[in-house]
Amino acid sequence: ERLDREIAEVLGLTERREKDSELFKVFSEVFDKTTVETITYFYRRGKIERLYGVLSTGKEANVFAGYDSNGNKIAVKIYRTYTTEFRRIWEYLAADPRIGSLPRDIRKLVFVWTRREYKNLQRALKYAVRAPEPIAFRNNILIMEFIGDDLPAPRLKDVEKELEKGDFEELYDFAMRSIEKLWKRGDMVHGDLSEYNILIWHEPVIIDWSQATVKRNRMSLTLLYRDIRNITNYFARKGVDVEDPEVKFRELAGD
Ligand code: ADP
Ligand code: MN
Repeated sequence: ERLDREIAEVLGLTERREKDSELFKVFSEVFDKTTVETITYFYRRGKIERLYGVLSTGKEANVFAGYDSNGNKIAVKIYRTYTTEFRRIWEYLAADPRIGSLPRDIRKLVFVWTRREYKNLQRALKYAVRAPEPIAFRNNILIMEFIGDDLPAPRLKDVEKELEKGDFEELYDFAMRSIEKLWKRGDMVHGDLSEYNILIWHEPVIIDWSQATVKRNRMSLTLLYRDIRNITNYFARKGVDVEDPEVKFRELAGD
C-alpha cells in the first residue's frame, strides 16, 4: 500500500531493511493510524523527509531526529495518543484560559496538548526567551528546530560534571532571567524548568514547553513557584550564590 511505502521511506527502511533497529522499535511503539497518517501528511509536503534517530523516549512522547526535504535537521516530537498521563494532561488543559471546551476523546485531547506546546514555543520566542523554533504541528506531532549539529545538544544534566562554577553562575542567571522575562513580559510560565529541560548549545536553550501556560491560569503561581524552587535548589547545590527563592517569588508574584 502507498502509505506503507511512504512510511518505510521516511524511516529509511527501504534502503537498510533494519527492522530491528532502535528507530524502528521505538517508532513501532507510537505507530498507530493517526501517527502514520500525520507523518505521511508531512512527508508529502516536504516537512519530514526522513526520521533517522531517536532523541528520547518518554512517558508522554518520543522525540526523533530527522530532516526535511531541504536537508534541514529537525526534531520531531510525537505524543502518544493513548497516554496514561491522561488525567494530568486534562487537568493542565482545563486550567488554561486560552483553551475552550475540552474534547472528551483522549486522542483529541492530545492534539490540543500538542498544539498548545507549539503555541507556547512561539510565545516564548516572541518574548526573546531561547527555545527551539516551532516549524509545524498537526494532530499529535510537533516539528521544531533541531538543537545541535551532528549530535543533539546535551542537556544541562548530561554535562554538569564538566562545568565549572563560572558556568553554573552564567546558567543560573540565564534561567532566572528567562523565568522573569517570561513572567513579566510574556505573562507566561514554563512550569517544568530544570536541568533536564535546558540544552547546552552555543547559547543555552529551554525545551519541553508542554506544561507552559499563561499568568491568567489559576495554576500559574504554583508553576512559577515550582520553577523558581527547582532552579534555585539545583544551582545552590552547584555552589552558586543564589537569591532567596521566597523573596524572588514574592517579587514576581507581587504584581
Ligand atoms: P519529555 O516531555 O519527554 O521530557 P522533551 O521535550 O524534554 O520531552 O524532549 C525529550 C528530549 O529530546 C530532550 O531531553 C532532548 O534530549 C531531546 N530534544 C527535545 N527537543 C529537542 C530539540 N529541539 N533539539 C534537540 N534535542 C531535543
Ligand atoms: Mn523534558
